[in-house]
Amino acid sequence: MTDYIWANCPSLAVHVTVEMTCVLLLSDIHANLPALEAVLEDAAKRDDLSETWVLGDSIGYGAQPNEVIDLLRSLPSVYIVKGNHEAAALGEISVENFNPTAGAAAIWTQRNLRPDVADYSMSLPLVITQQGVTLCHGTPRNPIWEYMFTPLTADLNLPHFETTGCVLGHTHIPSIFGLNASKEWTVRQATSGEIFDLDFERWYANPGSVGQPRDLDPRASYAILSLGTNEEPPTIAFHRVEYNIERAQNLILDARLPNTLAFRLSVGR
Ligand code: ZN
Repeated sequence: MTDYIWANCPSLAVHVTVEMTCVLLLSDIHANLPALEAVLEDAAKRDDLSETWVLGDSIGYGAQPNEVIDLLRSLPSVYIVKGNHEAAALGEISVENFNPTAGAAAIWTQRNLRPDVADYSMSLPLVITQQGVTLCHGTPRNPIWEYMFTPLTADLNLPHFETTGCVLGHTHIPSIFGLNASKEWTVRQATSGEIFDLDFERWYANPGSVGQPRDLDPRASYAILSLGTNEEPPTIAFHRVEYNIERAQNLILDARLPNTLAFRLSVGR
């Protein structure tokens, strides 16, 4: 192991044998600034990150949508896609399709977005191809609404993107789906500290939710993707980080957003 070179991805060192590019994956921040700040601080300590990819739903539910978008925009080499919560807050889709709590939060966000933040959010694309990877919120064929929960959905989406890999969000569950040469899917829900080689014919990866985890672990979730080389497959490392949940909750209550949005943060659901 001593002859390994890991200039950019020290936290993936045991899996990395040549220099690779590391990308920070963030999704479903949901206007939770304390969670986002904690994640950025934690990630900066681990690796020399070349880019940040943000996989939608940066706003909605939480109390600091403007602050979150301002911070994201200030990051170097950041690529951001639009999620269903951006679309709802901007009036591009009807909140009638949301449950009552999500709908109330979308209306609150609509009223509280600064005009320049609303304009910026409206300009975001639904799908980006970056460094040979597809980025979207829900799925490549339906970035706004579809959830990547099953191998069937994974299969049905394969014709809808051209890269080997796709990173996405929306389910709030850190996970990977990988298709091998025998056309069988490997599906894994990831816990903190887990690292997976993405040595599949096709794959999807979801970093989980920064601002509203739903896998009963209330810590903020994110991932670091190393892009691989001709010799090495891409690798993804999943991380969880504690943040000041009480502060995020108090901001939600002070903003008169639905109480349940504050309470769920303590239990991660
Ligand atoms: Zn979401």
